[in-house]
Amino acid sequence: MYSTHAISKLIAATFFTLSVSSCAGTKEFGSDKVEFTYPNGAQYAISLSFDDARSSQIDVGIPILDKHGVKGTFYVNPQFVEKRLAGWQQAAINGHELGNHTSSHLCTGNFAWLRKDNLGLEQVNLDWLKEDIEATTRYMKKHLNVEPKSFAYPCGNTFVGRGKEVRSYVPLIAELFNTGRTWLDETANNPIYTDFAQLAGNRMDGMSFEEIKAQLNLLKENNKWIILAGHDVGEKSMYTTDKDALEALIVYLKDPKNGYWLATVDEVATYIEKNR
Ligand SMILES: [Zn+2]
Repeated sequence: MYSTHAISKLIAATFFTLSVSSCAGTKEFGSDKVEFTYPNGAQYAISLSFDDARSSQIDVGIPILDKHGVKGTFYVNPQFVEKRLAGWQQAAINGHELGNHTSSHLCTGNFAWLRKDNLGLEQVNLDWLKEDIEATTRYMKKHLNVEPKSFAYPCGNTFVGRGKEVRSYVPLIAELFNTGRTWLDETANNPIYTDFAQLAGNRMDGMSFEEIKAQLNLLKENNKWIILAGHDVGEKSMYTTDKDALEALIVYLKDPKNGYWLATVDEVATYIEKNR
């Protein structure tokens, strides 16, 4: 039997252990020191990525990027590209990177509205998913004249199957692409260590510029490569990156005194692979 006091000590100890383990990458622990520099002596790298080929990316997001001469990475699905095909063809011509985001956009079936023919990732196998991903690549080659080098996992989910039958589809992505990006991670990518098949992705939807900047300050230590991920672009909400925040962010990132190299996911991955 524990006394009330012993229980509260136990809770405090558990909390302390959790706090320490989530701080394991800080300077204090010295486990994560990296010395890595990016082009032009930049200390950090950052990529701006957008998922689902949403129309507001064509109408609002890409014009902001183009105005400032920066390139984004757009992870697309054929059924959404089709709605704005000419816009996506132009985006590719303008030098934005287009990556593969599957045809089905299948996620865990816990998202009932994302089930495809009532299927979730729990009910498909690797062969099913491979065909779904390769169909997207075929579509991109045919209609966008792009052979995608980058992939983003829908909903950040990296598995198929259930329980003892669960299989990771990370090895499939490693075989088919240079990189795979997840979503809503708590860390960014350590250039020396990161696995290109499971790159960390961080939120930018629903945030003000000041909130995004505060997040970057928490993530950037040890020469990290931060990949921000958004969906719609317009007035900020759960799945919309705020257009004014995006513009202020680009101005901030382009200022050399802030130490960032802003480039597409494939550009940064290629640079790191050659130089680490
Ligand atoms: Zn998505």
